[in-house]
Amino acid sequence: MSVDKKHKLNPNKYVLVLDAGTTSVRAILYNHDGKVCSMAQKETMQFYPEPGWVEQDPEELLSALLGVIMEALTRIKATADNIASIGVANQRETTIVWDKNTGEPVYNAIVWQCRRTADIADDLIARGLDDKIRSKTGLRPDAYFSATKIKWILDNVEGAREKAENGDLLFGTVDTWIVYNITAGNVHITDYSNASRTMLFNINTLKWDDDILKELDIPRSMLPEVKASSEVYGYLEYDQIAGSSKVPIASVIGDQQASLFGQHCFDEGDAKITYGTGCFILMNTSERIVSSDNGLVTTIAWGLDGKVTYSLEGSIFVAGAAIQWLRDSMHLIDDSFDSEYLATKSPDSGGCYVVPAFTGLGAPHWDQYARGTIVGITRGTTKSHIIRATLESIAYQVLDVTRAMKEDSGLEFTHIRVDGGASNNDFLMQFQSDMLEQVVARPTNVEATAMGAAYLAGLAVGFWKDMDELRSLKGDATKFSPAMEPDKRTKLYKGWNKAVKYAYGWAKDEE
Ligand code: ADP
Repeated sequence: MSVDKKHKLNPNKYVLVLDAGTTSVRAILYNHDGKVCSMAQKETMQFYPEPGWVEQDPEELLSALLGVIMEALTRIKATADNIASIGVANQRETTIVWDKNTGEPVYNAIVWQCRRTADIADDLIARGLDDKIRSKTGLRPDAYFSATKIKWILDNVEGAREKAENGDLLFGTVDTWIVYNITAGNVHITDYSNASRTMLFNINTLKWDDDILKELDIPRSMLPEVKASSEVYGYLEYDQIAGSSKVPIASVIGDQQASLFGQHCFDEGDAKITYGTGCFILMNTSERIVSSDNGLVTTIAWGLDGKVTYSLEGSIFVAGAAIQWLRDSMHLIDDSFDSEYLATKSPDSGGCYVVPAFTGLGAPHWDQYARGTIVGITRGTTKSHIIRATLESIAYQVLDVTRAMKEDSGLEFTHIRVDGGASNNDFLMQFQSDMLEQVVARPTNVEATAMGAAYLAGLAVGFWKDMDELRSLKGDATKFSPAMEPDKRTKLYKGWNKAVKYAYGWAKDEE
């Protein structure tokens, strides 16, 4: 992230964003031009007590957060008086349960990646609840979402269920935990975007769903109040920072939805693609709840100005991770960055396809038994072909998901904006544009997730007047336009579809 060093301390304020990611927390100060004026970051630890289990220490998260807030303010000699409002962007689904009398967590945070509750999700499906859960929450029953994680804590932590039934325990995703603590336990809320990732929230009625709560045996008294993503929920009560200043906490939004907003995808058909370890594709479907026949999920993008905006979401498990594999396991590159230069040493992949189904395939294939394959190898296949085919596989997977989105929604993509580490690869972005047959825009200097939370926190307190003012903050973008012959594109994508079939079912036991 680039920090604008030229600005002067602005007594009339910054928006402070607390961005709580999966592996680090950050505090970022934005000025009125939407420029980053100060930033501090700290890594947070993850624990793996058993294979497939992932936890974090909720207290460590808070102390890291306090540290980065202090550091970001001190760097530019700002104080709480210079903060117009605070916005929170957070890793989603991660589940924390705490005692409301002591404020102490009863268990570590169970992180979104944790698979320990897969059997609880399977049981919901076995009980025939799949369709009901999908139509109410927009999600497919899965260990990923918060609901099964809450149930696990109540069933496995000694005394937890009893306390919960007595109304002594509170649940929150990371946003809720942060807001609760920085308001000294005065505010127990979440926003629509985070609520819609719990698998307990009815996205049609915009209420916690008593029926699903009953199926999972989760007392409603534990749940936070669900609010808009942009409004004043309460005030900062960290004495070390706030002193006597009244600093409003004015936005909360899940990280992927935050980046949709930060990327200016305000209108129906606007989409963003984040190329990180995995890849997240979100499309704004405005006020329409689009249910998917292709295994995508429906979530709430944000609640703003008395209205809820929905989105369709698809994810790809392995995107940048395939480039890491080339680097760390295959030693074909020293640095992810080199993949671009080496891929473009060949004019094409020489008929070679890499399908990086390391952990199965997600939407629209949904085959947990699929495994990685490389097909089309000849005596002429080189390192460059394999690297190129690996990069191309990211673009093909994105195309698979976007085709499913178009089919489900009947919408065309109006704008496609990209971000994340691997979006810096020009070859990949050009190939992506060729495959999507659409312009792909990569903004310069946008950390979209934090920007989205900043916009929403700024709007809530009039720091930015309205959406038009936000639109005027849209910075420059590098644009990649489709340039491939349609026949060539069709042939390549046909090859991909053939290659994917070879990956299907590989890990299934043969009779
Ligand atoms: P995350 O937030 O998931 O940690 P990042 O957005 O930081 O991910 O992106 C890191 C990922 O992007 C890594 O998997 C890395 O291999 C990949 N990556 C980074 N730069 C490039 C590049 N120039 N070309 C291809 N992949 C890249």
